[in-house]
Amino acid sequence: MSTNYKNGSVKTKSISTSSSSSSFSSGYKSKPSVTSSLRRNSTGSAANSAAGLHKDTPGVSGRVRVAVRLRPRNNEELSTDADFADCVELQPELKRLKLRRNNWDSDTFEFDEVLTEFASQKRVYEVVAKPVVESVLEGYNGTVMAYGQTGTGKTYTLGKLGDEDTSARGIMVRAVEDIFAETDSISVSYIQLYMEMIQDLLDPANDNLSIMEDPKTGDITLPGASLIEVRDQQSFVELLRLGEAHRFATNTKLNTESSRSHAILMVHVKKSVGVSGENVNSKSHMNRTMKPPVVRKGKLIVVDLAGSERIDKSGSEGHTLEEAKSINLSLSALGKCINALAENSSHVPVRDSKLTRLLRDSFGGTARTSLVITIGPSPRHRGETSSTIMFGQRAMKVENMLKIKEEFDYKSLARKLDVQVESLIAQHERQQKAYQDEIEKISLEAKKQLSQAEKSFADSLEKERVKYQRDCMESIKKLEAQLAVNKIKEESLRNKPNEELIELKKLLENETRLRKTAEEEVKNLQNQVVQWKRSEVAGNAEIVKLRKMLEDEVHQREKLEEEISVLQNQLLQLSFDADETRKQLESGDHSAEMTVDMGSLISPVRQPQMKHSGEQEKGSVAKLFEQVGLQKILSLLEAEDPDVRIHAVKVIANLAAEATNQEKIVEAGGLTSLLDLLTSSDDENIHRVAAGAIANLAMNETNQELIMSQGGISLLAMTAQNADDPQTLRMVAGAIANLCGNDKLQLVLRAEGGIKALLSMVRCRHPDVLAQVARGIANFAKCESRASTQGIKSGKSLLIEDGALGWIVKNANNEASPIRRHIELALCHLAQHVNAKDMISGGALWELVRISRDCSREDIRILARRTLSSSPSFQVELKRLRLNSG
Ligand code: ADP
Ligand code: MG
Repeated sequence: MSTNYKNGSVKTKSISTSSSSSSFSSGYKSKPSVTSSLRRNSTGSAANSAAGLHKDTPGVSGRVRVAVRLRPRNNEELSTDADFADCVELQPELKRLKLRRNNWDSDTFEFDEVLTEFASQKRVYEVVAKPVVESVLEGYNGTVMAYGQTGTGKTYTLGKLGDEDTSARGIMVRAVEDIFAETDSISVSYIQLYMEMIQDLLDPANDNLSIMEDPKTGDITLPGASLIEVRDQQSFVELLRLGEAHRFATNTKLNTESSRSHAILMVHVKKSVGVSGENVNSKSHMNRTMKPPVVRKGKLIVVDLAGSERIDKSGSEGHTLEEAKSINLSLSALGKCINALAENSSHVPVRDSKLTRLLRDSFGGTARTSLVITIGPSPRHRGETSSTIMFGQRAMKVENMLKIKEEFDYKSLARKLDVQVESLIAQHERQQKAYQDEIEKISLEAKKQLSQAEKSFADSLEKERVKYQRDCMESIKKLEAQLAVNKIKEESLRNKPNEELIELKKLLENETRLRKTAEEEVKNLQNQVVQWKRSEVAGNAEIVKLRKMLEDEVHQREKLEEEISVLQNQLLQLSFDADETRKQLESGDHSAEMTVDMGSLISPVRQPQMKHSGEQEKGSVAKLFEQVGLQKILSLLEAEDPDVRIHAVKVIANLAAEATNQEKIVEAGGLTSLLDLLTSSDDENIHRVAAGAIANLAMNETNQELIMSQGGISLLAMTAQNADDPQTLRMVAGAIANLCGNDKLQLVLRAEGGIKALLSMVRCRHPDVLAQVARGIANFAKCESRASTQGIKSGKSLLIEDGALGWIVKNANNEASPIRRHIELALCHLAQHVNAKDMISGGALWELVRISRDCSREDIRILARRTLSSSPSFQVELKRLRLNSG
C-alpha cells in the first residue's frame, strides 16, 4: 500500500460538502488543512485553540473536541473483506487519519485524538470524556456525543455496561463512576428522540415530552421527564439497563430501529464548594457557619446519535418520504448547526429540531463538548466513513463559550434545615413512641401478671374448696359407715346381753368404790398435812431451842470426853498394875514383890480390898525413890543382871504413873533410857514394862513431843512388830494412842508409820489391844476433824489413806463396848465431806446410820445424826438409798 507523500508533506484536500448531509451544504466550506508543521489553517476564532482545549481556565472559550475511533473488523468483514485493505489508515502518534481514495491516493485528516481499533475503552474514556466530566464537576455543562454510521461502535463506546468484563465499560458508566467519586448528588434522566418525539426511557408511558426553555437564563429543561436521583454506581448501572430495555421495547413496539433514534442521557450533578470555591465538607461547614453552601451545578449530556448513514429515500425500510425526513430531521439540523457554528455564522438554526434545541448549550453555548466519530474499516462503506470524517472535521471548528453555573443554594440550605428539623421531630416522636410503648408494655405486663395471679389464686381457691368438699364427703361417709357398724353392734348387744359387759360393769363399780375410798384418804391426808403444817410452825421454834441445848450438850460432852480420856489412862495403868500383881501372886517370885508393891503403890485407882497394901507399896517406892535417887535407879537400867534391869524398869514405870514424877523422870533422861530399852533389850518383859512407862509419860503434851523427836514412833512400831504378848501390844498401842491425841504431831506420827503400826496390832485379837487401837484411831480422827474445822487440814483423812477404814467398819459394832464407843466416835469424826466418798464406798455410811439410830449412848447417837444431816454428800446418798437419816 502506497501513500502519496510528496516532499514529506501531506497533500491538503478539499472535501466536498456533497459527501456530508445535504443540510450542511449552505456555504460551509470545510477546509481541514493539515500541514507538515501541523499548523492548522482553520477559519474563524477556533484558529487559536488548537491545543490544551479543555484544560483552559474556566470562562475562556473552548473548541469542540473531536476524536475518531476506528472499529475493528467484525467477523463478516474479516471474511468478506479479507482480500481488501482497510479504507482508512491511522497515524495515532500524529493524530492523523488517512482516508484512501484509491490504491495510490489518500486524504489525510487531523483530529484531536485518533483512536485505533486497539484503543481500550479506558483510554477512549480518558481522552474523550474525562475532560468533560471534570468540567461538569467544576460546574459546566458538558456534552459527549457519538456520531457515525450504524454498526461502527457508538453505543459500544458510550453505553456499554461491561457487566461481564469491566474493562469493556463505556463512557456513561465510567463518567458516572468518576462523578460519584466527587459527589453523591446525581439525578438522571434518560430519553430517546425519534421522529421528533421525546420518549422517557425511564418511564416509557411518557412518550411525548416537551422541552421547556427558561426565557431568562435560556436553560433547557424537560419537565415531564423522570429525573431520578441516583445514590450509587450500581443503581446507575441498573437505571441504564432499564433504559436500554425500555429503548428496545419501545422500538419494537413502534417498529423502529434503534439506529434511527437518538438516546440522550442527562446527568445532573450538584457539588458543594466553599465560598471561595474550595471544595469543603458541606455538612460541617454548614453547621459551623450556617451560611448557605455554594453549590456548583453541572449537567453531563451523553448523546448516542442515530446512525449517520443516509436513509434510502425510496423508503426501502418501509418509511414514507415524510417519515424519512422526520427521522433524519434532528441529525440534519445538527449538521446544519455545526456548519453554521463552524463558519461562525450569525445565525445558528438551533430551533429547527428538538435535538438541536436540547443540545443548544452543547455547541456554542456554555458547555464543553466532546465528539467521538466512529468509523468502520470496510472499504465498502467508504462513502459513509468519508462523510462521518467530514462531520467531525467541521465540528472541530465549533467553539464554545464556557460559563460556570454557580449560585448560592438557599433552597438547599432551607431544605437541609427542614430535613434536620424533620429528623429531629421524627426522632423525638420515635422516642416518645418508644417511651409510650414501654409504658404500655409494662402496664400490659403488670395487668397480665395481675390477672395471672388472680387466676392462680382463684384456681387454688377452687382446688382447696373441691378438696375440702371431698374430704368432707369422705368423712361423712366414714361416719355413716361407723354409724352403721355401731348400730349393728348396738342391735346385737341389745339382742343378747353380754357377759363381758356385766363383768365390766362390776369392775367399774369396784373401781368407783376404790376411787371414793382413795379420795377420802386423800382428804384425810390433806387435813393431816394442814394440821402438821400448823404444828411445824410451833415445832420450828422448839427446834431452835433444842439446837441451842444440843450445842451446849456437845460442849459439855467434849469436856467430859477429855475427862474420860484421863480416866481411861488411869484405868490402863490400874489394869496394868493389877496384871503385875496377879503375876507376882501366881509366881510367888520374891523379887517381883517389890515391883508389885511398887506397882500397887503408884496405882491411883485400886480395888477396895487391895487399897491398903497398894498404899503401902506406893509409899515404899516413893520412899525408895527418895532414898536411892532417880539417877541411881536410871543407871540400874543398864545393869548386867537382867533381874536388876527389869526391877529398875518396873520402878521407873511405877514412878511414871504419877504425874508429879513424870517431869523429874524426863529431866533425868528417863524417857531416853526407856526408849533405848526398846532396842537394846531382847527381853519382852522389859519391852512390855518400858512401853507401859512410855505410855504413861505420853499422857503429857511436852513428853509427847519429846517421844516423837527421839524417834519414839519407830521404836514403838518395831516393838509392836516383834511382840507377841497381848499386854506388850496393849502398852505399845496405849502409848501410840496417846500420841494420836496430839494435834501438832499428826503428820509426823503418820509419816513415821504410827497409824500403820497401830493397825498392825489388831492381828492380836485381844480386846484390850483392840480397845487401845480404837482409842488411838478415835483420838487421831478427832484431831483431824478439829484441824479440818479450823481449816488447817484439807484432803482425805490419813487414817483412810493408811487403810484404817476397813477395820473401823468391821469393828464398829464390836461387842466390847470400849472398842465400840471409840470406833463410833471415830466414825463420827471421820464423817466429813472429804471422806464421804470413801466412807460411802467403804460401808461406813451404813454404820453411821446405824449409830444414829441404835447407839445406846444418846450423845453419840445425836452426834451421828447431826453428822449425817449436816453432810450434803451423805444426804444425797441417803436419798438415793431412800434412807431417812432422822
Ligand atoms: P452503533 O451503535 O454505532 O450502531 P454498536 O456500538 O452497536 O454500533 O456496534 C456494532 C457492533 O460492533 C457491536 O457488536 C459492537 O460490539 C462492535 N464494536 C463496535 N466497536 C467496537 C470496538 N471498538 N471493538 C470491538 N467491537 C466493537
Ligand atoms: Mg447504537
